[in-house]
Amino acid sequence: MHEVSLCEGVIGIVRDAQVRYGFDRLARIRLEIGALSHVEPQALRNAFPSVALGTAAEGAELIIDEPAGQAWCADCNASVAIDRRGEPCPQCRGFRLLVQAGDEMRVKDMEIG
Ligand SMILES: [Zn+2]
Repeated sequence: MHEVSLCEGVIGIVRDAQVRYGFDRLARIRLEIGALSHVEPQALRNAFPSVALGTAAEGAELIIDEPAGQAWCADCNASVAIDRRGEPCPQCRGFRLLVQAGDEMRVKDMEIG
């Protein structure tokens, strides 16, 4: 469900770009979905084709980059890698973490075709 509305958001961005640049077809669209973003990339891939039907993105190749999560641990005073939100620090098992990267959800680039 969440993924469908996210796809609709992506299509909205495609439409805006279409108005701005005046293209008919999109060949490829690349999204960045961080490991901590609560989005299931596979669900997004499944939802995309039907949401894209009848739009410039119909039949476009969907590429999803999944940057890893990174957080600052206030106890270790260091940047650590985390796989999901709510996970403790892998070094000290503490929870004083501030997410630095990996929660991004954005359209990285598009290729007109
Ligand atoms: Zn730590």
